Amino acid sequence: MERQVWAEVNLQALKENYYKLQAYTQSEMMPIVKADAYGHGIVPVVKTLLECGAKRFGVALLQEALELKTEFPQINVMIIGASEIDQWDSVVREDIVPSIFQLSQARALSEAAVKFGRTARLHIKIDTGMGRIGFRDTDVSEIMKITTLPNLFIEGIFTHFATSDQRDLTFARQQLKRFQVLCDKLKKAGLKIPIRHAANSAAIIQFPESHFELVRPGIGLYGLAPSPQVGCNIGLEPVMSWKAKVAHVKKIKTGETVSYGRTFQAAYPTTVATIPLGYADGLRRALSNYGEMLVHGRRSTIIGRICMDQTMLEVTKIPGVHIGDVVTILGKDGYEQITATEMAEWLGTISYEVICGISKRVPRIYLASAKDE
Ligand SMILES: *Cc1c(COP(=O)(O)O)cnc(C)c1O
Repeated sequence: MERQVWAEVNLQALKENYYKLQAYTQSEMMPIVKADAYGHGIVPVVKTLLECGAKRFGVALLQEALELKTEFPQINVMIIGASEIDQWDSVVREDIVPSIFQLSQARALSEAAVKFGRTARLHIKIDTGMGRIGFRDTDVSEIMKITTLPNLFIEGIFTHFATSDQRDLTFARQQLKRFQVLCDKLKKAGLKIPIRHAANSAAIIQFPESHFELVRPGIGLYGLAPSPQVGCNIGLEPVMSWKAKVAHVKKIKTGETVSYGRTFQAAYPTTVATIPLGYADGLRRALSNYGEMLVHGRRSTIIGRICMDQTMLEVTKIPGVHIGDVVTILGKDGYEQITATEMAEWLGTISYEVICGISKRVPRIYLASAKDE
């Protein structure tokens, strides 16, 4: 069955983005592949990044970590998020590295490790100003209690920046300072932690002082700038494109209307193309009568309300549009390009939300990396 809507994932672009980001740092990179690798598909993404030399990966959920372990038993995977871990046994058995930000978690991990007669690795999460999760950077005695628990190895300690994607790094520098002060205090108290990490994509690009032993690139790997202030000009290439085929074309007369609520009324004879995707595919309904797509290398506007499975475009000035022609929702067509960053601007959000929002029902097509060809 031929697909009418799909997302193309360019694994070669992923590799190039990896190398571009690696050029910004001497530190090891731990690619962040949470949320199904930001919607790109975790297994092909990890496979490709392993070929690039990545040695460990970060996910948000235990479930994602277990999925990776099933596919790649040898992989080094860390859970960076706050997801509640109720299966400490599987964490220990699979040698998954959890983020620990409460003493009770460390105790549960320790108990499971004792039960299995193993040593469990962990990274301690520090809240230096993100205000999300983590021990406060003043909780030295609390953190030191972890060292008294049996069968644990504190492999890492990390924090996360609230503003590393802004031009003004004043607050990020304060966070970094707090993190360093804490790490020094722990060291003085006799706790040696081999891996410190803090930098996301934005900090990799513009905040080298924060790189430590390990960095955590996410969005940049997928070819998107972390923010309009950072990374727009470093040559990252979007990895995912989103396409569909025209399902129907017709001409309507002046005064006729399109879609629910009749919010579009033709002011002149108008050619309308119907595209078989809608908000159930992740095309946000807020783009009704506003967003654009590329047809034959030219921009065309969404008219009327976006429906659950269908959307209409005005193609009056684009001659020769036929059923089956490819429409680009995200990506390049000729000299034109629509990026997730541009779509995010239309929506008042960030590119992260756009790419994570492309639904599971949109099949991902993998363009082989050069090595496989
Ligand atoms: C998502 C996430 C990252 C990656 O951030 P990007 O901005 O996508 O590079 C890094 N660290 C943590 C803790 C995260 O949650």
